[in-house]
Amino acid sequence: MRVYVIGAGPGDPRLLTLRGAELIAACPVVLYTGSLVPAEVIAPARPGARVLDSSGMTLEEIVAVMVEARDAGQDVARVHTGDPLIFGSTAEQLRRLDQLGIAWEIVPGVSSFTAAAAALGRELTLPELSQTVILTRAEGRTPMPAGEKLADLGRHGATMALFLSITLVDDVVAALAPAYGADCPAAVVHKASCPDQIVVTGTLADIAGKAKAAGIRSQAMILVGRVLTATDFAASRLYDPSFSHGYRKARREGAPEHSRRGRRPPAAATTSAPGQVEPSPEKPPGLLLVYTGHGKGKTTAALGLVFRALGRGQRVAVVQFIKGKWKTGERLFAESIPGLTFRVMGQGFTWDSDDLSRDRRAAEAAWAEGKALALGGGHDVVVLDELTYAINYGFVPLDDVLEVSRAARAAGVSVVVTGRNAPDALVTAADLVTDMKSVKHPFQQGQRARAGIDY
Ligand code: SAH
Repeated sequence: MRVYVIGAGPGDPRLLTLRGAELIAACPVVLYTGSLVPAEVIAPARPGARVLDSSGMTLEEIVAVMVEARDAGQDVARVHTGDPLIFGSTAEQLRRLDQLGIAWEIVPGVSSFTAAAAALGRELTLPELSQTVILTRAEGRTPMPAGEKLADLGRHGATMALFLSITLVDDVVAALAPAYGADCPAAVVHKASCPDQIVVTGTLADIAGKAKAAGIRSQAMILVGRVLTATDFAASRLYDPSFSHGYRKARREGAPEHSRRGRRPPAAATTSAPGQVEPSPEKPPGLLLVYTGHGKGKTTAALGLVFRALGRGQRVAVVQFIKGKWKTGERLFAESIPGLTFRVMGQGFTWDSDDLSRDRRAAEAAWAEGKALALGGGHDVVVLDELTYAINYGFVPLDDVLEVSRAARAAGVSVVVTGRNAPDALVTAADLVTDMKSVKHPFQQGQRARAGIDY
């Protein structure tokens, strides 16, 4: 005997999975959330099956039905709306089943947030605009955990889908408008995928009024984010002819297209090893630039170059391998610049740290990120600030750095490395090396570091 927890989909009965439909037709007991699961989904239950609507039941009454079924050796189809694992109140049932030793299995479903996106015809993740979807709700009777207030989540600027929140739409707008801007696109989709679906679109400034005017008070998804209207987003590298990946080699301009008909892609996707990134025909190869030496100005020089590249509409990433004592001016500014990815490695690798294994982990994490940015195809210039320290401490393998910078350059990406004591092999491999020499420094006259000059 087993309880099958099945996602019924968002409303359209044809959005039920084949596996869900098979189980509903096969189980002698069908327990469904009648308030939201359409009758057509449970109609195929077999003749004589015990079909019960759980919407008026308590948790213990639901569990009692399952225990009776267990005692009778009967499987149960427990049918939830959308996907059962998103705002499904599923976990509390599974916990009781575990306590009772009753076996269960989950059959996922189409969630209403994807159905709402489908109704709008908008992809929720777009390159460089939002690569994250936050699934959340407004704070109602269920309190939000610390750090998950809408105003906190809004700071990410990511696409947001709000369940269970339409009656609180005014609060949603008040919490999100400061972070997203009142002009940020927003939409409300009522009964997505159903025949009486209603779609309302607008901005954070007017969406609440429009939804109310449309009479929407329940079963609605609120979506917020620039992805809802953007048309000038960058194209994904996946289908870019000049970009190679595990399933396709880059094509040269003018070269005949390979006929790949009849050829199957490899069974498993291979991750893009450095050597697989091929030169792009439109783009000249990138350069490796090294700013080293004992004088001040290495990071400053790299940041000047960042400024220049951004001015040319290039996409730039900076990874800082050393977390200084201060929040730097560049970091404060970077947070407000579009087109710039700026990462300061996590806690740990500071100038005066004494925990080497923590430093190693932090450096490795920063290198993994730097490598991904250099090879990911989403940037033209990648700055690896103070990377030489991580190499010289043995946290980041020099060979790996050389290999990645070679592959990145071949793909048209310039890599800038800063830090004292650049290893000889890096200097040899570089196209440009500047050795900063200190002639004078206010520090020598006992002056302290200054905001805006030193950090
Ligand atoms: N597990 C479900 C969500 C259940 S919570 C899922 O994955 O979709 C109920 C909330 O889901 C509703 O308040 C509403 O915000 C949303 N919802 C459910 N069905 C919907 C539909 N057809 N259209 C829009 N929103 C829907």
